[in-house]
Amino acid sequence: MGTVVEPKPLHIIVVGAGLAGIAVAHGLRKHNISYELVDRETTPRDRNWGITLSWALPLLESLLPEDLIPSLQFCQPDTSLSITDASAQGVLIRDGATGATKIRVLYPSGVRRMQIQKTKRVLSSGLNLSYGKKLLSLTYPTPSTVRANFADGTSTTGSVVIGCDGGSSQVRKCLLGENLAAQEVLPYAFMNFPFSLPADKAIWLDEQMNPSVDVAPHPKSMYMGLFLLDKPDLERPETWVFYVLVTWPIQDKEDEENAPNRLERLRAKMEGWADPYRSVVEWLSEDISIGADQLRIWHPRKWDNREGRVTLAGDAAHSMTFHRGQGGNLAIKDADEFVKAMVEVKEGRMSLKEAMEGYDRGVVERGEEVEISRLQAAAFHDYENFDNSPVFKMGIKPAGK
Ligand SMILES: Cc1cc2nc3c(=O)[nH]c(=O)nc-3n(C[C@H](O)[C@H](O)[C@H](O)COP(=O)(O)OP(=O)(O)OC[C@H]3O[C@@H](n4cnc5c(N)ncnc54)[C@H](O)[C@@H]3O)c2cc1C
Repeated sequence: MGTVVEPKPLHIIVVGAGLAGIAVAHGLRKHNISYELVDRETTPRDRNWGITLSWALPLLESLLPEDLIPSLQFCQPDTSLSITDASAQGVLIRDGATGATKIRVLYPSGVRRMQIQKTKRVLSSGLNLSYGKKLLSLTYPTPSTVRANFADGTSTTGSVVIGCDGGSSQVRKCLLGENLAAQEVLPYAFMNFPFSLPADKAIWLDEQMNPSVDVAPHPKSMYMGLFLLDKPDLERPETWVFYVLVTWPIQDKEDEENAPNRLERLRAKMEGWADPYRSVVEWLSEDISIGADQLRIWHPRKWDNREGRVTLAGDAAHSMTFHRGQGGNLAIKDADEFVKAMVEVKEGRMSLKEAMEGYDRGVVERGEEVEISRLQAAAFHDYENFDNSPVFKMGIKPAGK
């Protein structure tokens, strides 16, 4: 620390244009550090969900150019929801059997709900971003360079690769090998699906629900959450899209095999649930599409960063369940720390190796949240002990604070 080194011209290859990659790219751009952002997607994925940004919101704003900050409003599922209202209502956890509030978690500096697809589309504006670049491998042509090789036969060379390529990260596999990089599948049945309702029911649900997060544990060892995904036309409630997240411990062969009769299996479990959850499941149309899903996590472990040339951020570095709503916040925190480290290198205050070692240490430490979120997931299925769970002790604050 503190060694004076030659200021270094850097070129950073950011793999993955999700929340982490976009935040890294904006931060580098703001500090005039050369970068390119690549993503394997050629067309937007159909998977979509919302995230609640709380403690990392000011960090995201500091990474973005000033003129993009007002656009955060357009990343919300409900673009008419003010940050003041969202913050006042916080995150709602009910008792699934009665519908009564168990706890309302507030965050002092406020929360903003962001829809992931809108966020990727709106915030990728102005970035040097190439699609259709699926990373396959990394090679090291010289002692100070790294080359990213893509499935389309092209490659690009830079001084650093940062893997922001999500939970099943290819960069992580390049660093650690398939086995050590493999995610753990948690033993829960998991469904995550969108739905719409006739106008009168959509209005009812919108009034009943917390505008950001409305979730509940149920005594029958089950978690369910209702969320808004989109209000494409504020005046036409029949266009509004909501979604359900539901998990329960795998109980039988159908759960284990994730049999396609998902609506039937969900409905069979709804007895004893209170509104709004019970009515929503009752109203789902018979032909609703519920895809196969799994809860997968990865606990970070130290990796050899190839003399500071390769690192990870976001879900690539620590993938966790959504039960404490921390993954997106941590992705932004990683981005902010990485950009700060690169500024130190660019301005000659640290060598690349030194800066990356500090950054990597922080990422691995922040990865303690993987275990906390796993405990929170377990607690949502342990009704009797739920009040001892991390969310009661820590709210939605980052671990260690
Ligand atoms: C249902 C749900 C609810 C959640 N709720 C919250 C919440 O309330 N609060 C919160 O903080 N977090 C929440 N999270 C977690 C949060 O969404 C993630 O932690 C965050 O989006 C991770 O961003 P990322 O950029 O690391 O990864 P991703 O968003 O997965 O982005 C990875 C990108 O890499 C690209 N990619 C993948 N492989 C390659 C490759 N080989 N080559 C090139 N590109 C590649 C992908 O196309 C993708 O664009 C939730 C997650 C889920 C699923």
